[in-house]
Amino acid sequence: MSVMNVMVGMNSSWVIKYIMDLRGITTQYKQIWDNMLQNRKFNMKKIYDAMIDDNTRVTWRYLFKNNCARPRANHVAWLIFHGKLGTKNRLSHFGLIKENFSSLCKTDDESIRHLFFECRITNNIWKYILKWQEVNHVPGSWQDELNWVIKFTARNGWRVNMMKLALSETLGWGSTNLRDHIAKLMC
Ligand SMILES: [Zn+2]
Repeated sequence: MSVMNVMVGMNSSWVIKYIMDLRGITTQYKQIWDNMLQNRKFNMKKIYDAMIDDNTRVTWRYLFKNNCARPRANHVAWLIFHGKLGTKNRLSHFGLIKENFSSLCKTDDESIRHLFFECRITNNIWKYILKWQEVNHVPGSWQDELNWVIKFTARNGWRVNMMKLALSETLGWGSTNLRDHIAKLMC
């Protein structure tokens, strides 16, 4: 069966649903596709450049340019920026777990906003990282941090690249299963 005819199940992940939704627009790029078939050389950049326009470019895209963090950390950061990280709030909303207290401080509900960086534990870590990077910035709400990151990472240079790495790894750390064990050590 062709991928163009596959039905998308109700239980499919949002990523699969999104990808399958894009099938409808592939006909617009048939000319590019046919040219590549004729030249017997596939070029992902050509297809990507044709499909994307300025309206679909996210404001935080520079965070991932020249970011040397581990792929896992960058993937987690990408999920967080899309608001799709599997926090306890989100998991309990889908009925997968019963309690939704922060895995770190055990006091507030675990949401993206709480983990980054309202939670006193991740807030302290982020402050430490900023100090280590010699960046004069006081962490605020998640939205404040998002705005700050967008502004900071729009520039170039090794300091900016270090900050990108540090942020991705901090976000990655805050969402790993190890956080339970580390939190016990820090209490
Ligand atoms: Zn917390």
